[in-house]
Amino acid sequence: MQYDVTIIGSGPGGYIAAIRCAQLGMKTAIIEKYPVLGGTCLNVGCIPSKALLDSSEHYYKAVHEFEEHGIKAGEYQVDLEQMVKRKQSVVDQTTVGISYLMKKNKIDVYTGVGEFQDKNTVTVSSVGPALPARLPELNGGQAGRREDVTLTSKYIIIATGSKPASLPFIELDKKRVITSTEALEITKLPKHMIIMGGGVIGLELGSVFARLGTKITVVEMMSSIIPTMDGTMGKELQKVLKKLGFKFLLQHKVTEVKSTSRQVTVTAADKTGAVKQLKGDYCLVSIGRKPYTEGLGLEKVGITTDEAGRIPVDDHLRTIVDNIYAIGDVVRGAMLAHKAEEEGVLVAEQLAGQKPHINYLLIPGVVYTWPEVASVGHTEEALKEAKIPYKKGAFPFKASARARASMDIDGLVKVLAHEQTDEMLGVHIIGPRAADMI
Ligand code: FAD
Repeated sequence: MQYDVTIIGSGPGGYIAAIRCAQLGMKTAIIEKYPVLGGTCLNVGCIPSKALLDSSEHYYKAVHEFEEHGIKAGEYQVDLEQMVKRKQSVVDQTTVGISYLMKKNKIDVYTGVGEFQDKNTVTVSSVGPALPARLPELNGGQAGRREDVTLTSKYIIIATGSKPASLPFIELDKKRVITSTEALEITKLPKHMIIMGGGVIGLELGSVFARLGTKITVVEMMSSIIPTMDGTMGKELQKVLKKLGFKFLLQHKVTEVKSTSRQVTVTAADKTGAVKQLKGDYCLVSIGRKPYTEGLGLEKVGITTDEAGRIPVDDHLRTIVDNIYAIGDVVRGAMLAHKAEEEGVLVAEQLAGQKPHINYLLIPGVVYTWPEVASVGHTEEALKEAKIPYKKGAFPFKASARARASMDIDGLVKVLAHEQTDEMLGVHIIGPRAADMI
């Protein structure tokens, strides 16, 4: 089969690139190794985590806030199995929607592993998991054609995303020592979950379980949580999560993780070498994600990944091979769904002869805890380091009558502007619906 563009990977980067290429008149194919489209974000990332965050937040508010609002009801109970079932149905509706979009835009979908043979040729080998029985409505039981085929293409876009990172001494048994993927499937409420890493994913999933009654301990190597965001956000978020029952072991390095069929033992050491041992039902390893290029055959086209496993690209997202591009989590920059999407649009429009541009500084980042944290632009720390003169304004939610009305008084808004020109350089919000505001 011959195409103008072939895209490998159907996450937010890949499927958006495919739609934009098709809209711009290119004959487009997309290859996805799993039988369901949507990648990490739709299947085991953004969407399922947000579904569980919403369910757990409803429960938390019902138990802890309804009475003060003057609402009395019987005793609330957690039905985690139902929460996970609802989450899955949200995921299924969304991924089926992507299949529909592919059909509507006349994009050919291939199910299987895409592997380069040369700079214009990709083979699809159709080995891989079967479509879950709960999704019979997908194209007669399949998101895409499942056959061993060879596709030739003028342009190829790599959008193979990322996988959870781990450390050599950790054995991810996926039963007790788990990643975010398994955490989204837990149906029996744990008593104690130890979370390795105080980043976005760990804190979001920790919030889900903490709200339902699980004791959460976060072990973080750095001196603050969400260390890549503005420092004030980390400090404020830590205060709020402590109220929710989170315990934090900052500046502690995990040195050992052991598991039996029933529990985990996590050993962590501080800077002085003093050791703490924690026991829990699960150890959630959420220390970041690593770009995924396994089985892609990059060596056959002469592409080598950098020290972090990323595919090097130039400002146009072109690899060292002139007709091969790469986007999303597999390249440099923030690992965010909307960043991957913007890059997908950029490459498609370039291929159509347009001159698109992405201002990466304007890509916001959100932590969907409650209150939410949302940021765009420079952090205060970055401005100091770059010696950019700035002024700042901050306003606490507790001084807002609207926030008091909804009992959402934690958090603040911080605005950073250039000292002389007033140009807005960064906005950092921790507060109710911060994601919507950013
Ligand atoms: P992916 O979504 O990872 O998709 C890559 C696809 O390529 C996968 O389907 C994979 O199977 C396929 N593939 C790989 N190799 C091959 C091959 N050789 N052949 C065929 N197919 C292949 N981001 C946000 O912006 N907001 C959030 O709230 C958010 N929450 C998250 C919560 C969790 C728990 C996790 C894990 C992530 C979250 N993210 C969030 C990050 C977001 O999911 C990623 O940034 C996004 O999915 C990256 O998109 P992508 O298209 O680059 O890759």
